[in-house]
Amino acid sequence: MTSALRQKAAQMASAAAAAAAGTGCYSQTSWALRRLGAGGGALASAATRRRNCSVAAAVFDNQNREYVIVGGGNAAGYAARTFVEHGMADGRLCIVSKEAVPPYERPALTKGYLFPPEKKPARLPGFHTCVGSGGQRQTAEWYKENGIEVLYEDPVEAFDGKTQTLKTSSGKILKCGSLIISTGCAAARLPEKIGGDLPGVHYIRDVADADSLVSSLGKAKKIVVIGGGYIGMEVAAAACGWNLDTTIIFPEDHIMPRLFTPSLAKKYEELYEQNGVKFVKGALIDKLDAGSDGRVSSAILKDGSVVEADTGYCWYRSKTICQPLRSCGS
Ligand SMILES: Cc1cc2nc3c(=O)[nH]c(=O)nc-3n(C[C@H](O)[C@H](O)[C@H](O)COP(=O)(O)OP(=O)(O)OC[C@H]3O[C@@H](n4cnc5c(N)ncnc54)[C@H](O)[C@@H]3O)c2cc1C
Repeated sequence: MTSALRQKAAQMASAAAAAAAGTGCYSQTSWALRRLGAGGGALASAATRRRNCSVAAAVFDNQNREYVIVGGGNAAGYAARTFVEHGMADGRLCIVSKEAVPPYERPALTKGYLFPPEKKPARLPGFHTCVGSGGQRQTAEWYKENGIEVLYEDPVEAFDGKTQTLKTSSGKILKCGSLIISTGCAAARLPEKIGGDLPGVHYIRDVADADSLVSSLGKAKKIVVIGGGYIGMEVAAAACGWNLDTTIIFPEDHIMPRLFTPSLAKKYEELYEQNGVKFVKGALIDKLDAGSDGRVSSAILKDGSVVEADTGYCWYRSKTICQPLRSCGS
């Protein structure tokens, strides 16, 4: 994990703890966290009482939950660790997750996870949070041992801000004392009408997405990667490991334009080219076409040129997910 990611994760966990200490919803403010040092748990309890939100769940057999984290991603995992460190987890914290597994280090999905079998790819439970920052590997047992309730594969579908009550897809109703929203992002997809949903076209946000890409990589011969940012470059590097004919397409003049100067980008592009990767720069996708089997067979560019591929990986950007929780904090 990069130091930037570690810093970000620490910030996310800090903000989450701050929210738990009484600010209600996920917030980047840090004053509440500063108050958490010694006796943070007592302060948090006081803050919860002050908000006149009569939730006092010490057990999980009723609807009341003292602290609820919606989203079972990186931020939730690091926040859970902070709750435990402050003695605020046992019987008091509930995580409502859309995914089937406890929080994990999402960045691994486009790194070790995509290695070919002979390179011993990363697999869960190897990279549950917080191993990315050198912390403990928080498996499902860790959450149980620390008295944290985790609802798996049960995303929040609705939230009523007035009663601080949320409803999950299985119909479970939870009344929250303090709520932390950490629903993260979804990958922005190419529109269906230009082939963004064709079989063989991939996006990565979770383990299931990564498994689907790995399965395609195992059968693919030619892959086109759309987007020359970090994640596109990582997927292209993985494709090299699988000995695939790899082409990266992006609209800018060089890879990673937001981070790299032209000269730095050139060094990396040369390294990729030495490993057989082709670059199509300054190019925009018009559409992805399907072959007779219905799978993606080529990328058609705006200038009319065609890049053949039996697998496509698209990464433009992420978009935040907050729809069911829009009424919070307003
Ligand atoms: C493939 C990939 C590689 C990355 N590599 C890096 C990197 O190298 N360095 C770096 O700094 N960052 C990287 N990132 C970004 C980093 O992973 C994110 O910044 C981080 O995961 C954000 O954590 P989060 O918990 O806020 O959101 P997420 O980790 O996205 O977690 C959000 C969780 O909320 C769940 N959810 C969504 N809606 C609901 C709902 N209604 N109810 C319940 N649960 C819900 C989602 O299923 C998910 O489990 C990468 C991201 C991806 C996808």
